[in-house]
Amino acid sequence: MAPPQNSEEHPEPARVADPSPLIWLGGGLPPRFRWVSPSLVQALGHPLEAWRTRGFVSQLVHPEELGGLLEAWGAVARTGEPRTLELRALSAEGRPVRLAVELSAVEPSPDGTGELIGTVRVLSPPHPPEGVEHTAPSIDEMLQEITRTQRMHEELIDAIDGIVWETDANFRFTFVSKQAERILGYPIHQWLEDPGFWLKHLHPEDRDWASAYCMKSAKECMAHEFEYRMVAANGTSVWLRDIVTVVSENGVPRQLRGIMVDVTAQRRAREDLEQTVSLLRATLDSTADGIIVLTQDWRVTAVNGRFQKLWSIPDAMLEGRDGRVLSEYMRAQMENAEQVHPRTQQLLASPEQEGVDVLELRDGRFIERYSRPQRLGDTVVGRVWTYRDVTVERRAQAESERLLREAREAIRVRDDFLSIASHELKTPLTPLKLHLQVLKHRMDSGQPVPAQHVDKALTQVARLSGLINDLLDTSRIQAGRLELRNEPVSLGALTHEVLADLRAVSPHRSLEYEEPAEPLLIQGDHGRLAQVLVNLLENALKYSPTGGTIRVRVERDGAQALVSVSDSGIGIPADQKALLFERFFRARNAPISGFGGLGLGLYICRDIVERHGGRIWVESEVGHGSTFHFTLPVLEDEAAATPPETALHPR
Ligand code: ADP
Repeated sequence: MAPPQNSEEHPEPARVADPSPLIWLGGGLPPRFRWVSPSLVQALGHPLEAWRTRGFVSQLVHPEELGGLLEAWGAVARTGEPRTLELRALSAEGRPVRLAVELSAVEPSPDGTGELIGTVRVLSPPHPPEGVEHTAPSIDEMLQEITRTQRMHEELIDAIDGIVWETDANFRFTFVSKQAERILGYPIHQWLEDPGFWLKHLHPEDRDWASAYCMKSAKECMAHEFEYRMVAANGTSVWLRDIVTVVSENGVPRQLRGIMVDVTAQRRAREDLEQTVSLLRATLDSTADGIIVLTQDWRVTAVNGRFQKLWSIPDAMLEGRDGRVLSEYMRAQMENAEQVHPRTQQLLASPEQEGVDVLELRDGRFIERYSRPQRLGDTVVGRVWTYRDVTVERRAQAESERLLREAREAIRVRDDFLSIASHELKTPLTPLKLHLQVLKHRMDSGQPVPAQHVDKALTQVARLSGLINDLLDTSRIQAGRLELRNEPVSLGALTHEVLADLRAVSPHRSLEYEEPAEPLLIQGDHGRLAQVLVNLLENALKYSPTGGTIRVRVERDGAQALVSVSDSGIGIPADQKALLFERFFRARNAPISGFGGLGLGLYICRDIVERHGGRIWVESEVGHGSTFHFTLPVLEDEAAATPPETALHPR
């Protein structure tokens, strides 16, 4: 491409043509001159500084023609299509001067701010100022001026960081600026001599589409811009951004002009950036943690799918990218929002700070939140929030803590039991040994043996065997081997028997019995049910150290027989009632020193009652006595009773 020149193709003899090329370069909106050839400065007389000032165009051009110039300027800057127009300008002395101006784009831009070259011809010169003689320049002067201006023009084009070019309509280069050698490494003459130079040196992957695209745009006389690769002389690929204008005549493309700018570095940077972004995206999406990144003014800059899933965030809400809205939505799901909120505020107030918190959700989940600042260089530009579901770990931790507590409790109970059991088993042995020694002494000395010593020894033996039986029953229950008989049992008769036996051993205690209004038959193990009643009565006696009446009531309650044993003894602390029927449990107001016992009786009672299909519970108030109740299903029809050999509710 030849640099735009003052065209003298159609000289009009009627007009006075200035032989030296008058050129300016300018651009922007509103247009402004950036460079003006000395010849033009001289022709119109305005000082160079005036040309450079903003708004000089409107001072220079006659107001009636200003509109036309600005319109043409904008169109050429946008489309790259050159235009020529005539207009009146004002010389420095204020005389109107007719000018012909050819506008061409150096670099068209869609917004009309691109750089233009204006080539000016003076059609009617200003009258020389009064008293100054106008002498026409000599041929030599004119030639010098032309050469000088042309050189400047070439320097200007070569200084442009890109290949300025011009081709004919067949893409054969007619001009290429010197930068071509630097950028692609081929000597300029190759560009100009080889008619297929451009096509040949297009990168094979871009050749087809780039040439087709350029050809189509040229055919349609459309200015265009595109990026493609050319293969440089050293074999490397060079990315070029080519900005092309089409010079046409009557809709037929004649020439193409443009600038190829080397954008390899930008392309590489862009590719690197895309690679980094895609890597980050993939990392973000494949992590098991929910991640969201917020700017300091709460805009969402990144978020992953896991975050959305963890908090069940609707797509529409996420699209809003408003961190405050999301935060509200998340807060509503939290159980401990009130505790977490101040922590969040604290983190937001100190951008440098990192923090870990555990969020408890209303649906039972635990989420660990980790937060750290997002930095750009040294500046904190936002905050990264990471969320991890730690429900399973939390539950496992709670479970292992519970097991540890239970194990410790079990060890404590075992140790207590060993000390209680040894104490309890040893207690009857001392009196038993004493009674036996008395008996032996008497027998050795031929004295009569008093029956009370034998009875007392037998009482201690009974106590020992009771303790041992309780231990054996407990281990049978534990092993699921406590066997129960299964036969019709009259509850009234059973109670009578038990009370009669008890009265015989505790004649001084007051025992009252309230019988049922009707005979009550139940199905079960007579001996074991008697054991339950004996245990409750013995406890009632034992835990009423100051005496008081023990009341037994048997009644019918719907389909159940209800047995109640009341005393007016020490009672049971409210918080201990639930544990009373557990193995080895003894209420804290029943110290071993005051009341013997292994804490097994009620445990055995509960097992027996429940295996009969009943229930056992206690009502009590400390210091005011206790009432133990148990129920058993009434046998309505004796004939329907299960044969005795069938075991009851085996566990
Ligand atoms: P123990 O052999 O210790 O009496 P039990 O299993 O029969 O074992 O009773 C468990 C605990 O329940 C007792 O240690 C005592 O603390 C409490 N208890 C049982 N019956 C009564 C009652 N009638 N009055 C007050 N406390 C009772």
